[in-house]
Amino acid sequence: MSPVSASSRLNKNLHQHYRSLPQGDVAQVTYVWIDGSGETLRCKTRTLECEPQGIEDLPEWNFDGSSTYQADTSNSDMHLVPVRMFRDPFALDPNKLVLCEVLKFNRQPAETNLRVRCRKVMEDVQDLKVWFGMEQEYTLLGVDGHPFDWPQNGFPGRQGPYYCGVGADRAYGRDIVECHYKACLYAGIKVVGTNAEVMPSQWEFQVGPGEGLDVADQLWMARFLLHRVCEDFGVVASLDPKPITGDWNGAGCHTNVSTEASRAEGGLQYMEEAIEKLKERHAQHIRVYDPRGGQDNLRRLTGLQETSSIHSFTAGVADRGASVRIPRQVGLQGWGYFEDRRPAANCDPYAVTEVIVRTCFLGCPGGGDSPETKSSSIRTHRSKSTI
Ligand code: ADP
Ligand code: MN
Ligand code: MN
Ligand code: MN
Repeated sequence: MSPVSASSRLNKNLHQHYRSLPQGDVAQVTYVWIDGSGETLRCKTRTLECEPQGIEDLPEWNFDGSSTYQADTSNSDMHLVPVRMFRDPFALDPNKLVLCEVLKFNRQPAETNLRVRCRKVMEDVQDLKVWFGMEQEYTLLGVDGHPFDWPQNGFPGRQGPYYCGVGADRAYGRDIVECHYKACLYAGIKVVGTNAEVMPSQWEFQVGPGEGLDVADQLWMARFLLHRVCEDFGVVASLDPKPITGDWNGAGCHTNVSTEASRAEGGLQYMEEAIEKLKERHAQHIRVYDPRGGQDNLRRLTGLQETSSIHSFTAGVADRGASVRIPRQVGLQGWGYFEDRRPAANCDPYAVTEVIVRTCFLGCPGGGDSPETKSSSIRTHRSKSTI
């Protein structure tokens, strides 16, 4: 049994006593933001005099960017700008969770605030009514980094029985999945489904379909809820795209795409056009499909374990070994959506949806083209960090 954290073993009944104390008219609001890694989330909580009714009731706040890989100590104040409010499934009503954009001291977006560009691009294609649905895969680990419930020495039986598996010897950690699912629904996140994955201790939930910015916001908050639920159980959710090397499936963030035209009779033709464009810009997409410019996906996109090779672009109906798949049902009916299987589990959904729109519907360069990509700035941040 993988070790769980000490704090998860504190007396939860005692905790519940304080949790349920009346709090008067005030509301606790937890501000959530993406840190300088572009991958991990931070949060802090404040008290507001009354329950906020919408984003306009939430004041801006700030934080110490020198402790989040986002600023130098000498000029460390960063702005938190609330953009999406959710109900708080931990502290319950009237308390809130709020997703924030991060701005630098000069009010320019922080390097890892890719939401600004995503919003702009989505506005440019508003007429096409582009929808996205994202499938988030993740792996449960003990606090020692070993997959949750895997034998301490050695491996579980090889892959086969675990995908959508039932039974104590097949489903590792379902409690967490169920709690996360309910937490998302309470918060107002449109989770459409969940399933156990091919590798034991690996799971998936899906968000959408909806507009790009909306789905990306929801996915980030769903990730926050996942990490937070796991914290309560004393385990860790990893979004590493290939947590275990060898014949074990990696973790992706398949991104499903449609437009008003593709969703109508004869829509297959529009999907084929979009896929043709994706083919031409494969390398640029790989650069933005993980936070390290393709390095993480290099471990995952091997051409084995239901992936395509990182080095080539392929597409096919019902083909889980292709870069882009048209689901069987969509192929048969001739309209619907296609699935880009390349994004890694730890991708930034703002960057992924933005580059797809640019390539497929704007035909203009941008994401992944410039040498000033996010990943290069992250590397600098990381190496400069004193933490
Ligand atoms: P699979 O595992 O077979 O690839 P899932 O059932 O896990 O498929 O996920 C399907 C995804 O497709 C969901 O995220 C859903 O939101 C998304 N989706 C469904 N319809 C559309 C659509 N019209 N446009 C975009 N995404 C869609
Ligand atoms: Mn799926
Ligand atoms: Mn999956
Ligand atoms: Mn999929």
